[in-house]
Amino acid sequence: MIVNLRGLSRTEFPQSVRKAAFRRCCDASGQPHCETCGCELNGRSGTIYEHVTPDGLQGEPTLENCRVHCKTCADVKTFTEDNPRMQKADRVLKHTFNLERSKQKIRSRGFAKFAAQRTATRPIRKWSPAIEAEQ
Ligand SMILES: [Zn+2]
Repeated sequence: MIVNLRGLSRTEFPQSVRKAAFRRCCDASGQPHCETCGCELNGRSGTIYEHVTPDGLQGEPTLENCRVHCKTCADVKTFTEDNPRMQKADRVLKHTFNLERSKQKIRSRGFAKFAAQRTATRPIRKWSPAIEAEQ
């Protein structure tokens, strides 16, 4: 099943890389901190190992490409940096290889056209001696 145009598989960080990144983000007392905002990490759900270069853009699962983030920083990076970059990569790929959806005109009878009504921009034809003279 093709999920996207950039590739099929996703490579998570191996345990050895996650362990090394965890050691890197711990302070002297052993408390892990977010590597972006510096807040204290607590628990499994609040500790996220993120690709600096997204996996979808050939980011390797190496220690240099790994950052330990809190949930907030991970979401901010994902939604403001990674997703727009990958959406752009998809658009460029589609455009390059002519994979865009063909643009068909919507077939419909349409609506009957009525004569344009008087608008505020068109002056009202008021009575004047000139009009009187025309008739
Ligand atoms: Zn953070």
